[in-house]
Amino acid sequence: MAFSELTGQLEAKERLGSSLLGEPGHAFLLIGPAGIGKKTLAREFAKGLICSAPTKDGGCGTCPNCIYMREHTHPDYRELLLSKGEKNIKVAEVRSKILADVGIMSQIADRKVYLIDADGLAEEGQNALLKTLEEPPKHVVFLLTVSDDSKLLPTVLSRTVSLRMVPNTEDEVFAILKKKNPDILDEEARLYARFSGGIVGYALDLMETTWLVDAWEDMMDLVLDLPNKSRMELLTHAYESFPQEKEKEHFPEYLTLMSMIFGELATLICDPKAPNLQGESKKDKMLTMISDHGLTIEKIDRCSRHLGEAMKAYRANGNYEILICRMLLALKRSI
Ligand SMILES: [Zn+2]
Repeated sequence: MAFSELTGQLEAKERLGSSLLGEPGHAFLLIGPAGIGKKTLAREFAKGLICSAPTKDGGCGTCPNCIYMREHTHPDYRELLLSKGEKNIKVAEVRSKILADVGIMSQIADRKVYLIDADGLAEEGQNALLKTLEEPPKHVVFLLTVSDDSKLLPTVLSRTVSLRMVPNTEDEVFAILKKKNPDILDEEARLYARFSGGIVGYALDLMETTWLVDAWEDMMDLVLDLPNKSRMELLTHAYESFPQEKEKEHFPEYLTLMSMIFGELATLICDPKAPNLQGESKKDKMLTMISDHGLTIEKIDRCSRHLGEAMKAYRANGNYEILICRMLLALKRSI
């Protein structure tokens, strides 16, 4: 594994790779939402920092340092991560695992590298680290990862080289999913990739379950059938296509799916032969709906606004059943 085997993140890889050829700084900060691949990239960079003969692409993969890193037994590399279920990394841990260790010379590599999940560092933990960040021993490099850099003290930020990670493209996420699971259907991988918004970790989580594929089918059937349903049917049955009240935290995800479906309808309005639709198998039905009901971009815009209003009502903790029924009636009227 090297930088070139990690998909996307070209700018961050370029900057980290270049720094391996010169004298890297003492503290780097990778910023990006959960699941975007901060730790994966930081670990790859750490291999390059620890390696005896790194290239711009990271560690050489064959020197003793690289072998110890691969086996997760390198004595000069440490990770300080948030344990499952914990809100913060304990300050005592910062002291014992980092501060008490940085002064000791490296054993095999020329450097010691510490990967720290800064999302777990409350102000006290950051303060404990600060002095070492300000005057790090020559042989030490810190790699911090954080999803929200506004939670870091300005003094911590100013001591680190920041790199902001960008979401992967849909095609990149698709390729990663196919590599992980070659048996997955293209249509499903495409749905996970599209739905994940470019967050690889989220797409991989989605791939572990089947709910999204089922929900997509349900929402597609619901939208296609909206014009044919009576008011009464919408008020009694359509509600059942959505998560039950006790699982209503998934409602926004269903709205996202509906919004994707209206997006595909808009695409087809503009170009009935548009390729690469998620709803390829329902394309004929979508085209029939467009022609039978004279769907226009204006109508789709109105529908999107109804989804937005439902989301607002949901966030404001409005009555769940009522907000769904109201949305469905409004959608029916606008179609
Ligand atoms: Zn090496």
